[in-house]
Formats: sequence, C-alpha cells, structure tokens
Amino acid sequence: MAERLQKVMAQAGVASRRASEDLITQGRVTVNGQVVRTLGTKVEPHDHIEVDGAPLEGRERLVYYLLNKPREVVTTVNDDKDRLTVMDIVADVKERIYPVGRLDYDTTGALLMTNDGELANQLMHPRFQMEKVYVAKVKGIPSNDELKTLRQGVTVHTIVNHRHETFHAAPAKAEIIGADKQKQTAIVRLTIHEGRYHQVKEMLKAVGHPVLKLTRERYGILDLTSLAPGEYRPLRREEVQALK
Ligand code: URA
Repeated sequence: MAERLQKVMAQAGVASRRASEDLITQGRVTVNGQVVRTLGTKVEPHDHIEVDGAPLEGRERLVYYLLNKPREVVTTVNDDKDRLTVMDIVADVKERIYPVGRLDYDTTGALLMTNDGELANQLMHPRFQMEKVYVAKVKGIPSNDELKTLRQGVTVHTIVNHRHETFHAAPAKAEIIGADKQKQTAIVRLTIHEGRYHQVKEMLKAVGHPVLKLTRERYGILDLTSLAPGEYRPLRREEVQALK
C-alpha cells in the first residue's frame, strides 16, 4: 500500500513526522535514487528510501534521552543563524535523535529527545497533551485575581507571523512559590497541558506579568532531578513505558 513518505520515515524511527518533513524539504531524502522535496509524496513498500545516503531499512535501536536544555540553544535540527542547537549538545549519542516539541532559545529545562518517531508524533498530537510544569520568574507580583484568571483559563491576544491571534488557554494550575517585594519580581509555577507557541510567556503577559526567565521543570513524569543545564541522561525502561 502506498503511504506518505514522512509517515514511512517516522514509522522507521528516523524522526518525528514533522522533523521528517524538514528532512524532505531540505533535500536530504531520496526515493529510488531521486531527491524528493515534495511533502505528501507517496511511496510503495518496495521503494528504496535513503536519508542522508543511509538506507531507511537499516533501522536504528530506539533510544530516549532527557536533556536539560541550557539557555541560548535552539531546539531545531539546523539553525540558519548558526547558533548552537540541541543536536550539538547530544552529538555523542550515536543514534539520530530529535527533540520532541520545542523550548524557546532562552528557556531552559526538560526536553525529551528520541529517534522513536511514533512516540514523538503521539506526544506532540494536540489530543495527547501531557502535563508540563514551568517555573517562571516574572515582573511584578501576581495578585490573587490574576492567579484566578490563569486557573480559570486566560484569554491571550497575540501576534503570530504578523497576524493577530486570540486563544483561550485551558485552565492551568498556578501558584506563587517566591516573591521579591523590593525588586518586584515573583516566581510562579504554572502547570499546563497545551503547547502553543510561547504559551507560558503569553499567558503570564496576558495577566500583566512578563516572563523574565523560564524553565520547564517537568515534562510528564520526567523531571530534572540531578541534571544540570546541558546534561542529559537515557530514560529508564519504566519511564519509557510510562510515556507510551
Ligand atoms: N512556553 C513558552 O513561552 N516558552 C517555552 O519555551 C515553553 C513554553
């Protein structure tokens, strides 16, 4: 049966479907010796597919790592501005692993990286949004009413790709875990299930408290205990099981 190229690549564990699409548009994928850049191209089981010259049939062992992403690192495979990417940080891992989802350039914290394309797709699907816990240092000290707004689901007005957008964030858990009255800053722990672009920064800005610093403390069951920024570790078998 003919199937879309990016789906076949994801199933073979090359990358998530999204990252596979990037590989295709970058001209790194060939089908029967021809570079294919068109997304949605269908392939048959007998077609010979190569990614960066390596046949798809050579399936890799599936591996899973938790990285504590440092600041000033991009969560993409390539960067057109030549900045450090998470791929540079895990360069010692011999399998080709990819980030599941994104953290901003200046955000630190828990980032799952794997070559299990199916799991990555599943985790990134809007229907399967797992719990994510963020700790943000914000300007000003949120009032009880502002925390209540976050807990009830704040409405965010923002601009994405030069277009105005409005979204209603789902109810979040929100608590103040520290405050500096003199400097007028607070530390807020926010637990959400969604993963929109700049979601946490937008939610906190919407209640009047721009984010100064942001860390993802936990991604599902994966927390950062004993991982300093820039460090990573393989997941334990039971952790992988719990994600599936
Ligand atoms: N929300 C943000 O605003 N930034 C991140 O990096 C992650 C969640």
